[in-house]
Amino acid sequence: MTPTRWLAEYAWLPDRAEPTADVLIEAADGRITAVTPLGGAGTPTAGVEVLGDVTRLPGLTLPGLANAHSHAFHRALRGRTHGGRGDFWTWRNVMYDVAARLDPDSYLALARAAYAEMALAGITCVGEFHYLHHGPDGTPYADPNAMGAALVEAATQAGIRLTLLDTCYLTATVDGEPLTGPQRRFGDGDALGWADRASAFAPDGAHALVGAAVHSVRAVPAEQLATVAEWADRRGAPLHVHLSEQPAENDACRAAHGRTPTRLLADHGVLGPGTVAVHATHPTSADVTLLGDTGTGVCLCPTTERDLADGIGPARRLAEAGVALSLGSDSHAVIDLFEEARAVELDERLRTRRRGHFSAAELVGAATVAGHAALGWGDAGRLSVGDRADLVTVRLDNARTAGVPPVGAFFAATAADVTHVVVDGRTVVADGRHLTVDVPAELRRAIQAVNS
Ligand SMILES: [Zn+2]
Repeated sequence: MTPTRWLAEYAWLPDRAEPTADVLIEAADGRITAVTPLGGAGTPTAGVEVLGDVTRLPGLTLPGLANAHSHAFHRALRGRTHGGRGDFWTWRNVMYDVAARLDPDSYLALARAAYAEMALAGITCVGEFHYLHHGPDGTPYADPNAMGAALVEAATQAGIRLTLLDTCYLTATVDGEPLTGPQRRFGDGDALGWADRASAFAPDGAHALVGAAVHSVRAVPAEQLATVAEWADRRGAPLHVHLSEQPAENDACRAAHGRTPTRLLADHGVLGPGTVAVHATHPTSADVTLLGDTGTGVCLCPTTERDLADGIGPARRLAEAGVALSLGSDSHAVIDLFEEARAVELDERLRTRRRGHFSAAELVGAATVAGHAALGWGDAGRLSVGDRADLVTVRLDNARTAGVPPVGAFFAATAADVTHVVVDGRTVVADGRHLTVDVPAELRRAIQAVNS
């Protein structure tokens, strides 16, 4: 098969502190087959150009970005929860209103539009933390995995990969209050019920993986945590868990179990190299050490954490403890991994009143290779031979980015500056447009449908 060839004006190659100029990238059957720096100084052109069989990509070409934490339906809340005061818990009530209105068809439409927005932002893979399993009153659909199947199909249609993190959500509080009202559709009775349903789900398509999630220590009783951890372990599947997003979660867990959520998860076998703790905004020093010592990763979601007034997670301390950091847009207040990445550095600056905690290469790594690894795709997120052929090109010639050195792109660019996106060797976005989805129109329609 003839390889596809791209010539990147600049490309961010693995283990480099900054981008390399004039890099020829070749791929066949969705995999990178050659990466050749041509030794030039970067040849600017006016736009994407095809010269012979080579597509010239002006600007900076990155590996695929991975959005390691998503709740697709939260996209319907953007701009709708800012009218009053309140906190995470009052926001959650508004979120439940939308959750109550979704069915497999409306969820497919909303998730397809949200995932297509992600593609436009350079996201080639998403981790969907999925707990809207059943009908609104908790009755399973004829296919008990109909909602998960809708999400897998949405990713297919949007042209990106997906890891469905099938979430175990059994109780409303850390001391075991039952699910009521809008939470009823999240529950599977007990962890064995969750495992039965999750085990029956085998989506079609090479673009999808199934992993597991513990919603939080609020939602899975301590004695059932091991069931979920063992399920993931047996399959070598990623296991994610919301952790210490709120001080109230820590307080309730200490009151019920006499230990922090991190310690509780460790004591029940949930932490380890295949596990990713989402947020970890309020860990103790001992928790940070425990996360590092167990090889657990952490997915930071800075734009959501700021939107929900959660606080600032200890990103540098986690990194120094040996924790691999990945990034997620979570509630989709914005979908922009450039913003998430620089927030990791900028939030540390606000906290410490000092600059320079993370290098640009570290931030790129969190947005790309670490995110893909957190989602079980160990063969993606690097521009290197054998990896999946994911390319994300950011323009460096518009009002926001002109004059910015390529190494500084993560401090200047936004999702709107992404011009070209290739996923598994297929072009999904060209000239800033999604090739198959009218993203604004579909978002408008899908969001109207669930807010009316
Ligand atoms: Zn979340």
